[in-house]
Amino acid sequence: MARLLLIHTGGTIGMAAGPRGFAPQARLVEDLARSILARDLPDSSLTIHSFDPLIDSANVTPSFWNRLLDLVRDSAVTHDGIVITHGTDTLAYSAAALHYGLLDIDKPVIVTGSMRVPCAAASDAEENLAAALKAAAGGRQAVLVQFAGRLMLADRVIKVSSVALDAFHEVPRQDPAFDDLIARNSDSAAPCYDEQLRIAVITLIPGLTAAALDGALAPLDGAVLRCYGSGTLPSDPAFQAVLQARVRDGLAIIAISQCEHGGIRPGEYAASWALRESGVIDGAALTTEAAFTRLSLMLSDKKQEASPPAAPQSTTVKA
Ligand code: ASP
Repeated sequence: MARLLLIHTGGTIGMAAGPRGFAPQARLVEDLARSILARDLPDSSLTIHSFDPLIDSANVTPSFWNRLLDLVRDSAVTHDGIVITHGTDTLAYSAAALHYGLLDIDKPVIVTGSMRVPCAAASDAEENLAAALKAAAGGRQAVLVQFAGRLMLADRVIKVSSVALDAFHEVPRQDPAFDDLIARNSDSAAPCYDEQLRIAVITLIPGLTAAALDGALAPLDGAVLRCYGSGTLPSDPAFQAVLQARVRDGLAIIAISQCEHGGIRPGEYAASWALRESGVIDGAALTTEAAFTRLSLMLSDKKQEASPPAAPQSTTVKA
């Protein structure tokens, strides 16, 4: 007998057609979950916590993540497994945010959603929810994403399709030691996301000038810099100067690759040497979602500690 908790936040899995397109509708997921339980897990109990209002996941914010973290921590003592139903558009961000916020969770926390509304022909809502409830009832103790028949690592998923039912891929880990180091670089027992932080994801594009990059970085507390390929960027020394100056002034910048697989290797090319000397954090093969949420939590921790900030690059750069 497993005591399960379902936290329903919204998303297509709980939507129906309305006058302005698909929108959340109360009780769709709740009724579906109860019927799945009666059919597949008759010995288990189910508590349901539905957000009010239910949201399209385009409205997810750091405060939403904090609410989820509080709910999971508070209920982990009295439940054996937790399922979170979530819209697919920002599911990969929330999954990574939960992964870093719940590193020591001792219960399965399974995030799922669907690409088609429950009443659509060949909807994936029931299949995904049923698989998530089963994984929560007796699965691995970690935050995981259940989607289209696969259980995936929460910090490695990316949404790759806006139409296919198999909408998520798990990007393989390149360097487990690095991922572990970057994940565990926190002193807080119950980390939460600072809702005031100004963090942006900046994608390098041909023709971007150093001045434009500098302007984009100026108002920020942190930035995820999506470089080309294995970590290259324009060789103009002005780029390195901008990065160096911003890092020196306290901006945390984490560099990752625009490529889905492989990550960055600063210094492999002359055009990536600047990354080695600029104080930018080597994000190795982190996904954009993982880099963004990890950087957010790292900066949130620092603000909470209210102590002189440590140089972020010194704690996360690979040996
Ligand atoms: N717009 C929806 C959401 O993210 C898409 C989905 O759930 O598939 O909430």
